[in-house]
Amino acid sequence: MRAPSVPDRARALREQIERLDYAYYVLDAPEVPDAEYDRLLRELQQLEELHPELRSADSPTQRVAGAVRADLQPATHAVPMLSLNNALDDAETEAFDARVRAILGASLPKYCCELKFDGLAISLRFRDGVFERAATRGDGAVGEDVTDNVRTIRSVPLRLRHRAPELLEVRGEVLMFRRDFERLNAHQREQGNKEFANPRNAAAGSLRQLDAAVTAQRRLHFFAYGIAAADTASIDGDGGPASQWLLLDWLQQLGLPVCEHRAVVQGIGGLRGFYERIAQQRDGLPYEIDGVVFKVDSFAEQQRLGSLARAPRWAVARKFPPREALTRLLDIEVQVGRTGALTPVARLAPVVVGGVVVSSATLHNEDEIRRKDIRIGDTVAVRRAGDVIPEVIAVLPERRPHDAREFVFPCNCPVCGSAVVRGEDEAVARCSGGLICPAQRKQALLHFAGRRALDIDGLGEKLVDQLVDSGLVTHPAGLFELNQQVLPELDRMGEKSAAKLLGAIERARSTSLERFIYALGIRHVGEATARDREIDSLLRKLHLAAPAMAERSKALAGMSFVLTGTLATLTREQATAMIEAAGGSVSSAVSRKTRYVVAGAESGSKLAKARELGVPVLDEDELRSMVEGRRAD
Ligand code: NAD
Repeated sequence: MRAPSVPDRARALREQIERLDYAYYVLDAPEVPDAEYDRLLRELQQLEELHPELRSADSPTQRVAGAVRADLQPATHAVPMLSLNNALDDAETEAFDARVRAILGASLPKYCCELKFDGLAISLRFRDGVFERAATRGDGAVGEDVTDNVRTIRSVPLRLRHRAPELLEVRGEVLMFRRDFERLNAHQREQGNKEFANPRNAAAGSLRQLDAAVTAQRRLHFFAYGIAAADTASIDGDGGPASQWLLLDWLQQLGLPVCEHRAVVQGIGGLRGFYERIAQQRDGLPYEIDGVVFKVDSFAEQQRLGSLARAPRWAVARKFPPREALTRLLDIEVQVGRTGALTPVARLAPVVVGGVVVSSATLHNEDEIRRKDIRIGDTVAVRRAGDVIPEVIAVLPERRPHDAREFVFPCNCPVCGSAVVRGEDEAVARCSGGLICPAQRKQALLHFAGRRALDIDGLGEKLVDQLVDSGLVTHPAGLFELNQQVLPELDRMGEKSAAKLLGAIERARSTSLERFIYALGIRHVGEATARDREIDSLLRKLHLAAPAMAERSKALAGMSFVLTGTLATLTREQATAMIEAAGGSVSSAVSRKTRYVVAGAESGSKLAKARELGVPVLDEDELRSMVEGRRAD
């Protein structure tokens, strides 16, 4: 096939971008991840730079993207609502700073740094301090009138405090907290309605409603970050704010919600520092952000820099690496976990997501594959957020090849051939082989030797694979039967490393009851058959330190926990009761003495503090399995 000509490619890109804009801005249902959209827009930008004759005033590179829904009332902006230019890396931030300095002739301009909220822009008009009109950005010149809808947002004051000017247009972002987004999507699922792709689209879809009663149920939030440029002069009369930083303070005094995460910095080091600090805190915030915004602080300097048709020259959005990307699903494999749970895993054509190369992602379970209609050969959107395992979030059906194959979930364990069972109300299918299954055996051994269990240094995944595959170890107690004769037979295992490993195994014989119990966190050890076989033989091999007091026999004895965020199923009270019953204690603040922080959704500053102090963080499942170790006692 011949490559298309440059004008044909530019035309195709424009058409594709316009179609994606429509899906994103009008329907609030994006067809591709943002990174894919940004890639197409950048390609068009580059083509237009090389061939300026292809650039037209209506090109998506030259105007604010967005459109007005035909069934909503149009609302004209007295002062256009612009977009922001993006900086995708440090070099692009440096280029922005260099441009600013060149125009201003200033050596170190001050920048006001803010969060880049992942919501939708809104303009609120107040007359004599009373809320009068709200409009979405639309195409920048004309937006949609959403006055009645915005009235239902509790954080938008209907009357300003303090001495408000006669007329004021406040600019800011409407967003949906993650917690509310998850609740909304759960509700959509229950009702058989389409789920929203992300909190941003959910916020937009909830605000741009014909019926404000629907908006009222959706719990939206608002942050103010600016005013229509022309208004700066009108409030200047009595020495009003002369900079972005002071303006934010002033908006706050008027009773408008302003985000606390902001700073004034100088120089490229200051900009980078703010970006990195916020990147660390990102997952602890209750709402999504997709970067930070750097704005030249002084309004006088902003005026000198001016704006182009699409975006101001005095600001840039430093974006985080995208957390979603498109790639091809090459195959689906089924992995067997420690408790026999079968997890379908997508093998992917390698792709960079969230700053790292990803080549596999979880598909969760059989129902998820069916619900998302995922087939082998599909182009899929992959998401990797924070420390969470990458997951396939959606399929692009229009890119499905003819030979895409449906995946058939196995009836037998792919590792040991035992029957796969699935409880009536369970999403998870399990291998029924127990410790007979080499996959479960390997996971059980890894758990047994893990840092929080018997802590056998050097017994990692590769070695466990060899020990099990060669048949040298068939159950945890078998580790204690290893010796200098058999170990050096293994690959890359010299006499020296064999002696080191045997030393670590020997040391693990003397352990505490707590660790021993935790090490037994193996589903099948708790079962009668495995118990006789496994626990008795282990007890003969180990020299357990006798518990000093009855308290010591409890799995969490002497451990101090801090709870943060909303746990998956337990309330705070239930989690506290569970920890206390297992001998642990719960305190409210994280310190060096904290043994574990148990974090759920929307964890905030406590999670950040835990990370700062290096305190291990558990989720509810991990907490449960620690406590369940006690039950196996
Ligand atoms: P943008 O979102 O990158 O930046 C401009 C917007 O940032 C402003 O309008 C404002 O709403 C917001 N903002 C957040 N915090 C701010 C702050 N502190 N100060 C000032 N502004 C702040 O640009 P855009 O033109 O609105 O949209 C482009 C974005 O939409 C891109 O991320 C693009 O990937 C995405 N998009 C995706 C698709 C798709 O199909 N997936 C289609 C169209 C657009």
